[in-house]
Amino acid sequence: MVPANDAEKLILDLVTPIADLEQVAVEDSLGRVLGQTVSSQLDFPHWDNSAMDGYAVRYRDVATVPTQLTVVEEIPAGQVPQRRVQPGEAARIFTGGILPAGADTIVMQENTQRQGEQVTVLTAPMAQEFVRQQGSFYQAGAELLGAGVKIGAAEIAVLAAAQCVPVPVYRRPRVAILSTGNELVEVNQPLGPGQIVDSNRYALAALVAQTGAVPVPLGIVPDQRAATRQAIAEALTQADMVISSGGVSVGDYDYVDQILAELGATIHIRSVAVKPGKPLTVATFGDAEPGGKLQLYFGLPGNPVSSLVSFWRFVQPALRKLSGLNADWFPRFVWATTDSDLRAEGRRETYLWGQLSMGDRGDRFTLASGGHSSGNLVNLSRTNGLARVPLGETLVRSGEKIQVLALGLS
Ligand code: AMP
Ligand code: MG
Repeated sequence: MVPANDAEKLILDLVTPIADLEQVAVEDSLGRVLGQTVSSQLDFPHWDNSAMDGYAVRYRDVATVPTQLTVVEEIPAGQVPQRRVQPGEAARIFTGGILPAGADTIVMQENTQRQGEQVTVLTAPMAQEFVRQQGSFYQAGAELLGAGVKIGAAEIAVLAAAQCVPVPVYRRPRVAILSTGNELVEVNQPLGPGQIVDSNRYALAALVAQTGAVPVPLGIVPDQRAATRQAIAEALTQADMVISSGGVSVGDYDYVDQILAELGATIHIRSVAVKPGKPLTVATFGDAEPGGKLQLYFGLPGNPVSSLVSFWRFVQPALRKLSGLNADWFPRFVWATTDSDLRAEGRRETYLWGQLSMGDRGDRFTLASGGHSSGNLVNLSRTNGLARVPLGETLVRSGEKIQVLALGLS
């Protein structure tokens, strides 16, 4: 059994990020990973402009108040000023309007009184107040966004403003998903005795998609050597990474490891010191030399909870790295106070599922009610956190701090 942290590091070291680029429309770039550094040839703001509705003035004219100025021009946003503001003059200006030559300060409209072509400034502004200076937010040519950034709404705003269209993003990893087991049936098939629905396929496909990759579900594989061999070989031609569930325990029908070896894989991990999720096969196909391409294979346990926990703990970080993200790939643990006693055997790092919530006094973890068996997927629903009882510990008491793997933070 490999300790969890060693397994995590070993797995991440096996991953070479995808470097292939594709171009997508800015509106299709949400959730994608930026593939190139983006900069702009323009300063931001592009020109000195007003941050307020008011009057563009010469500071010297309004340092003592009240003072009356003649309004010589009106400058709404999007219009180029035609006149230079001379001593004793002001230009009516609106938010975003270009600061006219001669003016250096904006007086907000609330601090003025208007009568015809005259405006009286009632309160003295500070010099240069409410002027957004050209280039004060960003100077042309500098890096706006780096390669490897995950594109969210804020990044989309920046990409659009910089006219970075289309957006260069990394190709999404394709992840093949196989479900091994003679007992498995399709979701819309009637259940015979001993049969269960292949729920792992859907759960794993959802997790792959949530991580920004493309799930390629390849269906149910019966527990037969030839069928397993054929399915794995086919999966390797279709995807950058392959995930199977089931068939990696020590049972007579657990063929996955044998077939991987027959197909020429290097097997790095067969089990991890984690509960649930002890049986975990991590293998690679391909060329380990520099520049060579390795395909990662995860043989997850079949138990529904175990397969999900293994994905969150080990597959998701690898998939983050594979997708080209330059951020921290590691699982996101937060400290929370547990409001229930948490028990473990102590021989493996143990994960207990429940609700992570933010309270006035920090994060809180509430254990899901019902059995914490690796086969019980029912109480896993509505879970957004996995509390980690460290190796060697058997009890964390209610009120104590515990690290929780936050599942919402992909
Ligand atoms: P295994 O790891 O193949 O020994 O399977 C362990 C348990 O997980 C068995 O009870 C299986 O019926 C169940 N199981 C295996 N694969 C799936 C799947 N795709 N969906 C739901 N349950 C599964
Ligand atoms: Mg099985």
